[in-house]
Amino acid sequence: MLDLESLLREATVAIAEASDLKSLDDARVHYLGKKGKLTESLKGLGLLSPEERPAAGQKVNDVKVKIQTLIEERTEHLQKNQIAAALAKDTIDVTLPGRRQSGGSLHPVTKVRERIETLFTQMGFMVLDGPEIEDDYHNFVALNIPELHPARAMQDTFYFADGTLLRTHMSPVQIRTMKATKAPLRMIAMGRVYRRDFDLTHTPMFHQLEGLMIGENVSFADLKGMLTEFLQAFFETSLPVRFRPSYFPFTEPSAEVDMQCQNCKGEGCRICKNTGWLEILGCGMVHPNVLKHVDIDSERYTGWAWGMGLDRLAMLRYGINDLRTLFENDLRFLRQF
Ligand SMILES: [Zn+2]
Repeated sequence: MLDLESLLREATVAIAEASDLKSLDDARVHYLGKKGKLTESLKGLGLLSPEERPAAGQKVNDVKVKIQTLIEERTEHLQKNQIAAALAKDTIDVTLPGRRQSGGSLHPVTKVRERIETLFTQMGFMVLDGPEIEDDYHNFVALNIPELHPARAMQDTFYFADGTLLRTHMSPVQIRTMKATKAPLRMIAMGRVYRRDFDLTHTPMFHQLEGLMIGENVSFADLKGMLTEFLQAFFETSLPVRFRPSYFPFTEPSAEVDMQCQNCKGEGCRICKNTGWLEILGCGMVHPNVLKHVDIDSERYTGWAWGMGLDRLAMLRYGINDLRTLFENDLRFLRQF
C-alpha cells in the first residue's frame, strides 16, 4: 500500500513535468502500460490473502483512475498550449500597413501626344499614322525633293539595302492621306521619325507632329491663327508668337515660328540663349508641286502644313532639360509624370 502511495506521487510529478504530448505518452506507458509500474503492482495482488485482495484491488484501481485523470488533464492542457502557440506563430497583424499597388504612369511624350490629339480633334482634324519604313517617293519625291536636290542633305537618312528608308519626317503620312482622301481635309500625324544625328539635343529616333489642312480659300491667315491658337492652348497661356520667313522644299511661302520663352517670359535666359524666344515649329503653304503629285487641283485648292518635335514640346511643358532622359526608360524619371 505504501508503494502505491509513492507510485502515485512519483507519477503525479512525472505527468506535471511532461512538457509535450510525446513525453506525456512516455509517462503513461511507464505507469499504465502493459509492463508499467501499476500493472506490475496488480500482479502482486496474487500474493495477498483472499480477505485482503478486494481492498487492495480497490486501492490499485483508485490509483489507476487518479493517474488516468491526471494524464487527461495534462493532455488537455498541453493541447491548448499547442494551439495557442500555433495561433501566436501564424497570427496576422491587421494593424500593419498593407502593400500598396503601385500605379503606372504615362510617358511624358505620350501625355503630350494625347493632349495635342484632343486640341486638334476639337478643331476638326483627323489623327492618322503611317508606316515607319517608307520609300523614297513618299519621303522625298512627292514632297518636292527630287533626287540630288540639295534639301536631302538637310535630313541625314537611314537607308535599307533595298532602297527603302526610315521615314525622316511625318510628311509621307500627309502624302498618303492626300492621295487617299483628296481635298478638303484636315489631319495631324504623330509618330517616330529617324535621322542620323546624336548629341545633347538630337537622338537618332525622335517624335514628330505634323499637320495639314487643304481646302478652298485656305490662306496663310488660317495658318497663323490656328497655330497661334494651338500653342496658346497647349501651354495654357496667351504667349506671344512670331513668324519668321524660312525655306522648306514642300511649302511656299515657308515660315518658322518662335514662341516667347516661358522660363524668362521674354527677358532672356540660358534656355532661350538670351533671345527671349524659342524656335518651336516650321510651317508654310503647301507647294503646288506637292499638290500635283497627289492629284489635287492646285488652282482650286490651297493648304498649309506644319511640323514640330513632340519631344521638344514635352521638354518645354514639363521643364525637362535633357532630351536623352526621354528615351532612357529610367523609372525614377518616368514615375514623376
Ligand atoms: Zn528664356
